[in-house]
Amino acid sequence: MIYLDYSATTPVSYDVLESYNKATRDYMGNANSIHALGVKSKVLLNSATKQICELFHIQEEELIYTSGATEANNMALKGIAMAYRGRGNHIIVSKLEHPSIYKICDFLEKQGFSISYVDNDQDGLVDFEDLKKKIKPETILVSICAVNSEVGVRQPLKTIRQIIKKENNNTIFHSDMTQAIGKIAVNLFDVDLASMSGHKIFGPKGIGFLYKSNKVHLVPLIHGSGKFNELRSGTPPLPLIVALSKALRIALTDLEKKEALVRKLNQKLVAIFSQYESICINQTKYSIPHILNISLLQVRPETFVHAMEENEVYISTNTACSSGDLSTAVMAMCQDKQRARSTIRISLSHVSTNEEISRFLNIFQLEYKKLVNLMEKSK
Ligand code: PMP
Repeated sequence: MIYLDYSATTPVSYDVLESYNKATRDYMGNANSIHALGVKSKVLLNSATKQICELFHIQEEELIYTSGATEANNMALKGIAMAYRGRGNHIIVSKLEHPSIYKICDFLEKQGFSISYVDNDQDGLVDFEDLKKKIKPETILVSICAVNSEVGVRQPLKTIRQIIKKENNNTIFHSDMTQAIGKIAVNLFDVDLASMSGHKIFGPKGIGFLYKSNKVHLVPLIHGSGKFNELRSGTPPLPLIVALSKALRIALTDLEKKEALVRKLNQKLVAIFSQYESICINQTKYSIPHILNISLLQVRPETFVHAMEENEVYISTNTACSSGDLSTAVMAMCQDKQRARSTIRISLSHVSTNEEISRFLNIFQLEYKKLVNLMEKSK
């Protein structure tokens, strides 16, 4: 099999699974219990949390574990909206967000919030002038993805933060960092809140976190005993947290070396795709190399994904979360419906190999030729 859908999810790495298994086997106590078994679990929990916080230079109370990035995004947007509604009802997001952000915005709009969508240029970069114009005294939150999941465009969060705070120092800045953390270096101090997910970094599914600066407040989505964390009650899922900590430590090691490796593979793919007139490469100078989005103008993307699957090659149409729709990111960048309708996303990781990419390209070219011929004949 050739797996090139690492932005949809990743396999759990061996060492991470070992950590998960050990925590499950040897630490059965509820970390909220006061007896010895609970205390033993609490010690492990504290140590896993401390390790994560050290990686990002944040305080332990600034880390809120969630089931993943969808929950973290909900917690951030709804939590801020509820906490600061007395100050204003205006929220700004980009046109290159994950569908979860748009769904939350739709919900908040029905609750009386006003949502603005900031423009971007054709390379996917947020339009700074438009952002400036859109920030008003009643703007409580701006949410901008660190790296878009469809085309991999990376936003300059530090500059965006400076713009936001200059226009309105009270406006809070959230970033969905799900496709950034573990792939490129990030600085959580560029934002007030950040979402991430373990299963994108060779960790297990069902765990992620929201970073929340001590300077901002949230209304919790989940109420309960508040023993572990008053912003997200419930028994802490110790094995998942330990596994997340392990996955993060591995992911953040040799980040630049791994990125350089992925860049080479990306270039090898682009060199072949650019030989085809009927293939548009939706990669801009701001795209990270892990995500390569192309439009196959002569074939249906779903048909192509299934044809590749017949060869045990796994890629996706736009994203696992929005397959079948127009690619929002490609639409936002080029306003070309045909191009946005025919996208394929190939997502790489540092475990992808040169040999895999060569085999992938052979299969790709064979299947593409077959489907294009079929389309021509049926005309
Ligand atoms: N945000 C982005 C940018 C993503 O790529 C994803 C995963 N497709 C999510 C949020 C949702 O993450 P999770 O599966 O952890 O809920």
